[in-house]
Amino acid sequence: MGETKYIFVTGGVASSLGKGIISSSIGKLLQARGYKVTIQKFDPYINIDPGTLNPYEHGECYVTVDGRETDLDLGHYERFLGIQTTKANNITTGRIYKNVIDKERRGDFLGKTVQIIPHITDEIKRNVLLLGNKYKYDFVITEIGGTVGDIESLPFLESMRQLKWELGRNALCVHLTYVPFLAAAKELKTKPTQHSVKELQSLGIQPDILVLRSEHELNENLRKKVALFCNVDPHAVVQSLDCPTIYEVPIKMQEQGLDETILQKMGLPVGERPALKPWREFLARRANATEEVVVALVGKYVELQDAYKSILEALSQAATYNDRKVKIETVQSDNITHENVAGYLEHVDGIVICPGFGSRGIEGKFIAAEYARTHDKVTFGICLGMQCMAIEFARNVLGYKDANSVEIEPKTPHNIIDLMEEQKAITDMGGTMRLGAYECVLDKNSKVYEIYGQEHIQERHRHRYEFNNAYKQQFERAGMKCVGTNPEAGLVEIVEMPSLTWYIGTQFHPEYSSTVLKPHPLFLSFIKAAITKHPAK
Ligand code: GLN
Repeated sequence: MGETKYIFVTGGVASSLGKGIISSSIGKLLQARGYKVTIQKFDPYINIDPGTLNPYEHGECYVTVDGRETDLDLGHYERFLGIQTTKANNITTGRIYKNVIDKERRGDFLGKTVQIIPHITDEIKRNVLLLGNKYKYDFVITEIGGTVGDIESLPFLESMRQLKWELGRNALCVHLTYVPFLAAAKELKTKPTQHSVKELQSLGIQPDILVLRSEHELNENLRKKVALFCNVDPHAVVQSLDCPTIYEVPIKMQEQGLDETILQKMGLPVGERPALKPWREFLARRANATEEVVVALVGKYVELQDAYKSILEALSQAATYNDRKVKIETVQSDNITHENVAGYLEHVDGIVICPGFGSRGIEGKFIAAEYARTHDKVTFGICLGMQCMAIEFARNVLGYKDANSVEIEPKTPHNIIDLMEEQKAITDMGGTMRLGAYECVLDKNSKVYEIYGQEHIQERHRHRYEFNNAYKQQFERAGMKCVGTNPEAGLVEIVEMPSLTWYIGTQFHPEYSSTVLKPHPLFLSFIKAAITKHPAK
């Protein structure tokens, strides 16, 4: 296409308006027109990455193929666009400062005073332009985390101002705001939007397009009023109402010509409106699926809707492709006891034992795994979930009552899950786990081989501990097979029990690579098995 175009997405009025979904939707619409698109996110906090953040602080930590622990919005980018993001797609304030300070220590600034402008802003700009210059994308969409007006976002907004000035028509700002409905007055209020645009203008940034989130339809007059007060073309004021599924947002944006407005403003030919056929087919199938498949999610952060984001999305995508609607029943693992486990799990069609860290709630996961195994429930253990399946098996089938992971009990005499060799010397917590995509070879005589339909797979990891190969033979003899192995290190990546309907644990996280148009085979198969075992009532 020639020069890369840069689209910045900012947010005003309130957080959690869905900048990630709007960025993904814009990306999807441009990609459907044949452009090569990527999306990056700047997070204005001091942590180098979200890897060490508690899910209560930051929701799920998403992992890229090249092993970066990132914001969960990158999951939306990948699920919408079917692309793979990398470490260049998520940058925090902490990382920007670290890069600059490292340069300063190397003496790269030749005795100059190092300042926010130009040094921090130059580093931010370098990270935006890198995607265009190095990876040759047609469009780079940059989502700026936080809300306009936050102290933390200022260097990012200043960099964006400079880039808009330098790039002219090749850069554009989409600002997302909120239009509240005051029930007492029965009125939609535009003042917060006007204020947040003024705030942006005071920083020297004129938004080109406004996307207004609202729970109520915005009429023509309201849009005209916003356009008038905010120096924006009336057709560049777009509404974003709550949708039954986030995957409808691209369609709603297309109906209002958001992508066409972007192309016009950037001086690109508009051409025909793409049909988005496979996307619409997915949505139709989703809307038609009314019968439920009930899945219990056993974890310790289940009350947080963002903590297992990718797992929830992967399950719901897989349900759609099985013409079902997934009903998630969250089970707080701390609460599970031998006495009450049946009450939680007896009636469900499938069980997911979630990933996690630390000892809280782990005994409940062992009890859930035992119940699932002894009642032949369709069960999927992911990362810590797989480790729990193995420990429970060692305790109750192999008879090692004290079996454990050294993460939970460092002195356990039966260390079924052990610290990986290369982890032993590591003291830093940040970015030091086994992260990113690794190869795994499947046993041709296994259910997972049947599911994947290939012998060599690549899946993403995020863990420090591993299955202890010293126990492999005993496990296999007793009926839990190690059916996926990393070819270089010999690490066990998948266990399954051939004697049961569907009892599979993966050390990796398949949920990260399930997308709308390419749902993950393991999730598809899991849902299918759950449905087959429990046909519609
Ligand atoms: N805590 C376990 C480990 O580090 C599992 C991690 C996870 O579930 N992501 O190995």
